[in-house]
Amino acid sequence: MAKTKSKAIGIAVGAPKQACSDITCPFHGNLSVRGRQFTGTVISAKMRKTAVMEFERLHFIPKYERYEKRRTKLKVHNPDCIAAKEGDVVMAMECRPLSKGKNLVIIQKLGAQKGFLSRMEARESSKIEKPKKEESKEEDEN
Ligand SMILES: [Zn+2]
Repeated sequence: MAKTKSKAIGIAVGAPKQACSDITCPFHGNLSVRGRQFTGTVISAKMRKTAVMEFERLHFIPKYERYEKRRTKLKVHNPDCIAAKEGDVVMAMECRPLSKGKNLVIIQKLGAQKGFLSRMEARESSKIEKPKKEESKEEDEN
């Protein structure tokens, strides 16, 4: 098969405009997709050909008959022809295990998430101011 031509991957998504020479690309390589699909936001694209995708889901708590929000982070393969960046909303689909923690590949970019930067900044600022355990320890000894 010619490398410049993309193949159909079995589900109705358009092939990316660019071509790539990644052998683990569902459009230009030998990777086949199957199974589960996830849609989420890329929160890190610093690794080589790997991105971290995150999405929120609702988890039901029977005692209170209410839902809580939970976040799921997944490592996904990021082929050169798609090259998703931080803040992109992407659709990923299951494939064979590509590494210890990666068995999904991005198949489509759905656009940018609104307010992504301010959301990540807010999350970063809420992380600081944690190590204050020594004071409470002293109180326990008394
Ligand atoms: Zn490709």
